[in-house]
Amino acid sequence: MANERSAVVLASGRLVQWREGGAAHVDFDARWVLRREESKGDVAGFFHTHPPGVPGMSDRDRRTMQAWAQCFGRDLLCAIRCRSATRAWLCGKDGARREVASVILKGRSLQWTP
Ligand SMILES: [Zn+2]
Repeated sequence: MANERSAVVLASGRLVQWREGGAAHVDFDARWVLRREESKGDVAGFFHTHPPGVPGMSDRDRRTMQAWAQCFGRDLLCAIRCRSATRAWLCGKDGARREVASVILKGRSLQWTP
């Protein structure tokens, strides 16, 4: 079974800081993310895979994204790749989330329309 993978989504769409986790979890380098946001202010959100799992956000995804949005004080993108489909949500600090109009994963770059 494939492991989950993750990356940080920059405002440019570039996916950076790739990591590999276990079959049903993956994490991010929180210190790197905070340093990047403080120095460049261009962290748009997070990308991870669900192989071969659920195409939507898990309860843990929701809790994690709310915590990050609270930390950043603004909405953040949660993009999930499952099988050959990619979906993404904008997640707020109040826990609300809204699926974006469109999202395309191309290589190591993500393009989305809010
Ligand atoms: Zn997930």
